[in-house]
Amino acid sequence: MAASIIQLLPDHVANQIAAGEVVQRPASVVKELLENAVDAKASDIKLIVKEAGKTLVQVIDNGLGMNTTDARLCFERHATSKIRQAEDLFDLHTKGFRGEALASIAAIAHVEMKTKQDQEELGNHIVVEGSKLITQEVAVLPKGTSFAVKNLFFNIPARRNFLKSETVEFRHVMDEFQRVAMAHPSISFTLIHNGSELYNLPSSNFRQRIVAIFGGKTNEKLVPVAEDTELVKIAGFVGKPEYAKKSRGEQFFFVNDRYIKSAYLHHAIMSAYEGLLKEGNQPSYFLYLQVPPHTIDINIHPTKTEIKFDDEHSLYAILRSAVKHSLGQFNVAPILDFERDSNLDTPYQYKDKEADFPTIQVNSGFNPFATEKPSKSLSSFGSYKKETSQSNWESLYVGLKQDTEEIASFSFESEEVTGKLFEDDTIETSTSTYQVHKKYIVSAIKSGMLVINQKRAHQRILYEQFLTNITIQKAASQQLLFPLELYFSSDEMQLLKELQHTLENTGFVFDTFKADAIQISGLPVLMKESEVSMVLESLISNLQNEVPESSFSQSDTIAKSMAKSLAIKTGTYLTEKEQENVLNSLFACKEPNVSPFQKPTFITLTVEDLDKRFAL
Ligand code: ADP
Ligand code: MG
Repeated sequence: MAASIIQLLPDHVANQIAAGEVVQRPASVVKELLENAVDAKASDIKLIVKEAGKTLVQVIDNGLGMNTTDARLCFERHATSKIRQAEDLFDLHTKGFRGEALASIAAIAHVEMKTKQDQEELGNHIVVEGSKLITQEVAVLPKGTSFAVKNLFFNIPARRNFLKSETVEFRHVMDEFQRVAMAHPSISFTLIHNGSELYNLPSSNFRQRIVAIFGGKTNEKLVPVAEDTELVKIAGFVGKPEYAKKSRGEQFFFVNDRYIKSAYLHHAIMSAYEGLLKEGNQPSYFLYLQVPPHTIDINIHPTKTEIKFDDEHSLYAILRSAVKHSLGQFNVAPILDFERDSNLDTPYQYKDKEADFPTIQVNSGFNPFATEKPSKSLSSFGSYKKETSQSNWESLYVGLKQDTEEIASFSFESEEVTGKLFEDDTIETSTSTYQVHKKYIVSAIKSGMLVINQKRAHQRILYEQFLTNITIQKAASQQLLFPLELYFSSDEMQLLKELQHTLENTGFVFDTFKADAIQISGLPVLMKESEVSMVLESLISNLQNEVPESSFSQSDTIAKSMAKSLAIKTGTYLTEKEQENVLNSLFACKEPNVSPFQKPTFITLTVEDLDKRFAL
């Protein structure tokens, strides 16, 4: 008889093999650690990443923490506090349950964990490298848990080499972060990559969280979806068909607070949009499904992004009709003319009303054609204090004229204006400006050159203007032809009522305050109708996150919030006139040097600085 050849694998080898399933890339670590923090009932979660997670993934939470025994046990395979018996698999209320993640991660990385339970004096500090316990010590720690995972795949060079570029890996990290953050809007999340803060998401609701992640413009694109049946509760939003894009970007299903992929449910959505989309376009959707836990099986894939539903067919039908209903109710279907301007839409509250003859009120002081470009009326406030306080900045230009020819012969990277650089009149004006990368405004000054960050500069300008309007002098309004009705929750309405007077000073005109809606008939001059709901929503969420100490700090928050929402963005082309207006208005400000958020608005490069660069 030949000798037996089968052996049981040592634990650390088994863990390494299992790790291959759970941890494909740094983003997998991000997902597991974030989910553990959510399961630990944290209300605040920080994710710190270096080099797309290849060198560091750290998650810090303020959750329940672990006691000394659990702190050691959590690294064992099949060690979990979340299920006790097989039946529990059919009644899951947590993200994790396999008890594999930490064992897998610890097998293929250097892990440093700090954890403390609220009621304990001291916590535990543990270091594990490649499944080997290096140290375990008691330590003074804050409540909660911090996991730092360093040097991923340090002992599996093949896997390390298999990783993609930092850009690609970081995209995966962002995806995981966004999915968990979207599934749990009441938890605050921060993401820091290579030392810079990319997201700081305060506790909020679904809509605000989506807007905080995908930007203010998202708000106006969303149509709410709601359905409540025994089988499934649906909440969330779908994108208006006219905003559908060629790329398949913002499509999310969450089932019982877990991000999942489902080609089948995706098909249900697509069929609800039938006839509304241009060929090949993809709508965005953010849909939250709650189903009884025993009707799903999450156990079919180790990363748990695929699940099986008991009654898929009914789910399909309910989802499809809920989305169809929403698209219909909000008058976004049918849309056959895809090119039309959505700004010309009748507000949907008016669609069933009889058309009564509009009483037209026009603010004669408001001239929509006063500006050259319809984008942002920069020139409408460009004259603001311009004449009176030129002296502040005028000196920058003194003595410039004779230097102008030298300076103007630099070739700046600016699409529309470079052609004019050498025309006589351009050289003659001493304050010529150039826009670089639709982001900076460059202007020659006496000592060298001035580089202005257009977005921050405009924030400063608007901030001071709004603050003046709120505290000293009421601003003018532009009257709307049709009043705008916007819906809010009752606590949001409460807040808006408190702000009514302040907002009126900025130019808002409110007709009625109902229990759940406001009617607006006038807007601040700079605001477009399509921006109103975005501005008010971000204002509300900014104020909800602020503890107002005095009425000044409230005015300040409002001015800041509105300035932030309305300032021209990076990527906006500015005409020369607009560039000049930004420059002039900025230096007419009380504090031109910094944005309302204390970031520098401009820098100067002296001729000496430039000379030094050329001396290299
Ligand atoms: P699972 O999440 O499937 O239970 P893990 O390996 O991810 O398995 O975690 C093992 C156990 O460690 C969890 O069940 C939990 O008890 C504990 N744990 C992990 N992370 C944390 C955390 N951030 N806070 C508190 N306990 C945690
Ligand atoms: Mg887990």
